Amino acid sequence: MKKLLFLMILLAGSTVYASTNLNFFQARIHNINRQHLIALTQNGITIDNVRDNEAIIYLRSDQLSVLENMGISYDIRPPVRNANGYHSIESLADHLQSVETNHPDICKLYSIGKSYEGRDLWFMKISDNVLDEEDEPEVKYISSMHGDEPVGMELCLHLIDYLSDNYNVLSNTTDLINNLEIWIMPLMNPDGYVHQQRYNMQGIDLNRDFPDRVSSNHNTTEGRAVETAHVMNWAFAHSSVLSANFHTGALLVNYPYDSDYSPSKKYSATPDDELFQKLSLSYSSLNPPMYNSPYFDRGITNGVQWYYAYGGMQDWNYIWLGCNEVTIELSDDKWPPFSTINSFWDDNQDAMLNYISWALRGIRGVITDSETNMPIDAVIRIIGIDHDIYTDPDVGDYHRILLPGIYDIEFSAEGYLTKRKTNIVVTDGNAARLDIRLTHQSCLNTIESAIIILKAMSGVAVDDNLLRFDINDDGTVGLMEAIYAMRLSANSISQ
Ligand code: ZN
Repeated sequence: MKKLLFLMILLAGSTVYASTNLNFFQARIHNINRQHLIALTQNGITIDNVRDNEAIIYLRSDQLSVLENMGISYDIRPPVRNANGYHSIESLADHLQSVETNHPDICKLYSIGKSYEGRDLWFMKISDNVLDEEDEPEVKYISSMHGDEPVGMELCLHLIDYLSDNYNVLSNTTDLINNLEIWIMPLMNPDGYVHQQRYNMQGIDLNRDFPDRVSSNHNTTEGRAVETAHVMNWAFAHSSVLSANFHTGALLVNYPYDSDYSPSKKYSATPDDELFQKLSLSYSSLNPPMYNSPYFDRGITNGVQWYYAYGGMQDWNYIWLGCNEVTIELSDDKWPPFSTINSFWDDNQDAMLNYISWALRGIRGVITDSETNMPIDAVIRIIGIDHDIYTDPDVGDYHRILLPGIYDIEFSAEGYLTKRKTNIVVTDGNAARLDIRLTHQSCLNTIESAIIILKAMSGVAVDDNLLRFDINDDGTVGLMEAIYAMRLSANSISQ
C-alpha cells in the first residue's frame, strides 16, 4: 500500500512537473557574444542556433528575467508548424510496417521501447541476413529527437524506401545492404512531434540529456528521459561504429566535441579531429546548399566552434561508445512546408548514402581466443590516437574507421596478452582486414608451469632471465621455442 501511495505521489508530481515546465517558447536574441551564450547555457536556457551575433534560444517565461538581467534584447518567435502532408504517428508506423512486410528478407522493424506517453520508438534494421548479427559494421541514423524538427523523419522514410526498393537493383545500394547493418530511427521524440514541441513530455531536451564528460559524467540511464534511456540501452546492446542525428534550424554538419571542460575554448577537437572533418565533408560535399553555406565553411563546423551544448547525443556516442557520430542540420526552416520535402531528399540522398559507406573504411577484423576461437570483448587502440574502440562481443568483430596512412595498432582484452601489429597500411578503399587471436593469461601460466617442471626434471640450473618464448602470430605460444630457449640457457650456464 505504501508503495502504491508513493507511486501515486510520483505520478502526480510528474504531471505537475510536465504541465508547468512545458511552456517553452522560442526567442531570437540580439548583440550577443560567447560569454552571453555560456551564461545562458549555465542558466538552463537552450541555445538552438547561433549566427553572427544573433542566436535562437528556447526558454520558459520564468527564465525571461535571465535575459533582462543580462541586458539582452530579444523578440519572441511564434512557432511556424504546418503539419499538413507530414506523416502522422499512425501513418509513420503503417509505413514502416508495410516496408517490413514487403521486404522481410532485408528489413526488420523493432520498437525499442515506449515514449513517456506510451508511443513506440521505431527502429528499422536493414541488412542481408537481417535477423543475424554478422561481422559487419553497424551504422545508425536517428532523427527528430526534437519534436518540432520533422524534416529528418521524412528523409529517413525516403531512405528506408530507397534502400529497400533498390536491393538487388542498384549495385551500390545492394553493397551497402550486404556489407552493413543499417539502423534507422525516423522519430526519437514521438510525443514532442505530436505536441509540436522541441521537448519530450517530461519537459526534457533529449539532445541535452545524454551523459556528458563535463555536466553529467556517469554513463547510466539514471535520471534521464524515458526516450534517452531507451536509445542508451539499445546502444549498450549493440556496437555501432558510425552514426548521425538529424535536426533542422540550420544547414550544416556539426562534429564533436559539443562541450569542453574549459568554457572559453573556440574549438574543441577530438583525437579524431581530421577524420571528423572528412566524415562531415563526406556529407556536406554532396549537399550543394549545405556545402555552399555563406555562414559555415563548406557547410561543416566543430560543435564548440558553433556554440557549447552539454549532454548532446554525438559526444556521448564518441566518448562512451567509440562510435563516430555527427549532428546534421538539414534546413534553416525548422518546419518547412511538406511540399519542399522532395527537394530536401534530392539534396540529401547521395549524402546519406555516402556517409554510412565510410564505416567500411579503415581496419576491421574479428578478435578471438587463440584456444577456444570464441569472440572476445576487446579494445582496439591506434598508437598516437588517444581514442579506443571496442569489439562487438557477440561476434568479436571490430571496425575502426581511419584515414589513409600507416598505423601501429594494439589489441588488448582483460586476462589476455596484449598484441601489437605494426606498419598496417590503410588506403581510401575497403578496410584492411586484421583478424586477431589473443592468448589468455591462463594459457601462458600453463606454459610457464611446464617449463618449471622441465627445469626440475632436467636438474640443470637455469637462468630464468634467459628464458624467452614468443606469442605466435596466430596467438599460440611457441612452446618449442621455449624449450629450445631453456636448453640454450642451460647450456650457457653449464659452459
Ligand atoms: Zn534539434
